Amino acid sequence: MALIVQKYGGTSVGTVERIQNVARRVKKARDAGNEVVVVVSAMSGETNRLIGLAGEISEHPDPRELDVLVTTGEQVTIALLAMALQEIGCDARSYTGAQVRILTDSAHGKARINDIDDTRVHADLKAGRVVVVAGFQGIDQNGNITTLGRGGSDTTAVAMAAALRADECQIFTDVDGVYTTDPRVEPKARKLDRITFEEMLEMASLGSKVLQIRSVEFAGKYNVPLRVLSSFEEEGEGTLITFEEDGVEAAKISGIAFNRDEAKLTIRGVPDEPGVAYKILGPIGDANIEVDMIVQNIANDGTTDFTFTVNRSECDKARGILQRTADELGAREVIADDHIVKISLVGVGMRSHAGIASQMFQTLSHEGINIQMISTSEIKISVVVDEKYLELGVRALHEAFGLEQE
Ligand code: ASP
Ligand code: MG
Repeated sequence: MALIVQKYGGTSVGTVERIQNVARRVKKARDAGNEVVVVVSAMSGETNRLIGLAGEISEHPDPRELDVLVTTGEQVTIALLAMALQEIGCDARSYTGAQVRILTDSAHGKARINDIDDTRVHADLKAGRVVVVAGFQGIDQNGNITTLGRGGSDTTAVAMAAALRADECQIFTDVDGVYTTDPRVEPKARKLDRITFEEMLEMASLGSKVLQIRSVEFAGKYNVPLRVLSSFEEEGEGTLITFEEDGVEAAKISGIAFNRDEAKLTIRGVPDEPGVAYKILGPIGDANIEVDMIVQNIANDGTTDFTFTVNRSECDKARGILQRTADELGAREVIADDHIVKISLVGVGMRSHAGIASQMFQTLSHEGINIQMISTSEIKISVVVDEKYLELGVRALHEAFGLEQE
């Protein structure tokens, strides 16, 4: 008998019929002899609807009250699912995060799980019940309701699986697995059977929205085997997210991720002297603006051009700060460009294959795509290009690295 944690996202429980469908799938896993804990999200659109209500009353709602409000979304789904399970003869009980005792810190809206008291869950499982747990929520040490950040039900599921030492954590969603790239950009994208935690983390942080990033970190840290599956298809093994296998040679590249949410800022003609990078980026950091890629170019007149990327939504703010710095430093000009994309190759196989970067640059140059910035890590190479080249670049790289369907 295996212990499985299943998580169903908002679209999977978006209607009463879909909740009944989830109940059937849960029962199937139960009938196959498994112990099953189910974590659910709010019905799709519900969390946004609740946040909208709060917004009608206050521009900056009290974070504590906002958490009390939005957690009701999940409370609706757990009760409905437990009823649907009982209706088809599957004994079940629902619990809110506070009832299970998912203990978190007090950071409303982005709380972290400190501990899970799983005694109640174990007792129910032992009594033959399916346990249905509200995702996305917990309780702090003073009894305040907290939430784990948008998409946090994934993290609840992984944390439950870790606490219960589950055999597998299955994330049911509206796609049937993790793909080599977004099939909307490259229809030849292929579903991966396996991907490592490290790769998944890179894919997720680069904008592949299949899983909440924190849930992948958590799964890697506690070694929870994680599987992404479709809640709408009966068949299929989905994608298993796991550790690198010894002795199995990894593919050169596992996937291509891209990010449309960045903007590029350049300050031109600043004096090339110690402390300049700090003078430029210090005020940006002080304003809590996160910087991603950085490039510095030295001209032969003793000045330097300094370019970095930030989230697109913070471009104007960063530009204003940079303009003040430019005035102070006597820089030539400040240029902001929000028509860029970042395209990244991801793969643990990069560690043992040379020449991946040059193959990437060659492929892009064949397509006449100009590379504006480059950054690399052990398992990732990213380039910034004009956003009009997104589709062309992704497709060309997908083909060059042999990622298409067999
Ligand atoms: N309902 C929450 C959200 O929409 C949590 C989740 O779906 O994972 O972000
Ligand atoms: Mg989600």
